[in-house]
Amino acid sequence: MRILKPVIVLIAILLLGGVIVRTLFAEQIGGALFKAAVTKQVGRDVTEGFPDGLTVILVGTGSPVPDPMRAGPMTVVAAGDRLFIVDAGAGSGRRFGEFGLPWGKVEAAFLTHFHSDHIDGLGEVMLQHWAAGGAQEPLALYGPRGVDLVADGFNQAYAWDASYRLAHHGPTVVPPEGSGAKPFSFDTGTSAMKVYEKDGLTVTAVPVSHEPVEPAVGYRFDYKGRSVTLSGDTTKDAKLTTLAQGTDLLVHEALNEEMVATIGARLKEIGQPRLAQIMDDIPSYHTTPVAAAEVATESGAKMLVFSHLVPAVPSRALYPVFLKGTGAAYKGPIVLGEDGMVFELPAGSDKIDRTRLD
Ligand SMILES: [Zn+2]
Ligand SMILES: [Zn+2]
Repeated sequence: MRILKPVIVLIAILLLGGVIVRTLFAEQIGGALFKAAVTKQVGRDVTEGFPDGLTVILVGTGSPVPDPMRAGPMTVVAAGDRLFIVDAGAGSGRRFGEFGLPWGKVEAAFLTHFHSDHIDGLGEVMLQHWAAGGAQEPLALYGPRGVDLVADGFNQAYAWDASYRLAHHGPTVVPPEGSGAKPFSFDTGTSAMKVYEKDGLTVTAVPVSHEPVEPAVGYRFDYKGRSVTLSGDTTKDAKLTTLAQGTDLLVHEALNEEMVATIGARLKEIGQPRLAQIMDDIPSYHTTPVAAAEVATESGAKMLVFSHLVPAVPSRALYPVFLKGTGAAYKGPIVLGEDGMVFELPAGSDKIDRTRLD
């Protein structure tokens, strides 16, 4: 006790001293923190650390259900340091910059379908590609039949903005020919087709079942012997399973039916039948985590990653509930996606290295 007392007094003095210093020097401390953050974050390019091969970055893993941990859906696939964007949900464009991904290295963007939650961040993506990336050409926007209408609509909606920025910054900073998006439409019909092939990267699209949404596609990226397959929004789909045969990484959407039913029951209980009906409707065009795990097994995928999560899973305490039963359906590694997760697939190996951006 005799030793403890002075120790406690010393700790109290130190704590009090800390509070006084923090109060007196709040401005200086804040200024130093800001300077350190600027040095670390501004203009950084995380692709410098990417391996030769494929790198998959989960930029937004959310869905239309608000989740404080997750932006709307966007996955970025890097072939070396060339970046390819898949879908552009709300907030994902801002996350892209926050994670230190350079807009100037975006070669193309791909849309899986035109549900609002997959395109409601597209305006931001087009703007940043132009203004932050200094693009000399509009964003190349690939998508199934109908992508022209989406690109034209966004181009029109952002036409005034483009004129203001050009007037303000001038053509050297924001080259006028680089604003907006240029659509590249494809029609897969009922089977898989190659939709992009350049400098060793092949992108294949396959129609998936997301009725009544049509067209809707999933994509597979192949580069230097490594591959990632992205489901898009779909029910469990045999065509996607075929496309994903032997893939390194399967990024699959997932809707937990039991959790959604719990939300629906509560909505009914409190007299909100309209929203309850929506909860009843949505499972019919999505895949349960267990069914997605079956797709991973049937395709021989080396790792399964869940993204586009319904409902929101804003705490890791909920993960075991969301993933219930998946371990029995797929014996490989299963990852519940979070914004900023990175999967590196170096060429000439079968490794999948996991890191994280912040
Ligand atoms: Zn959808
Ligand atoms: Zn969706």
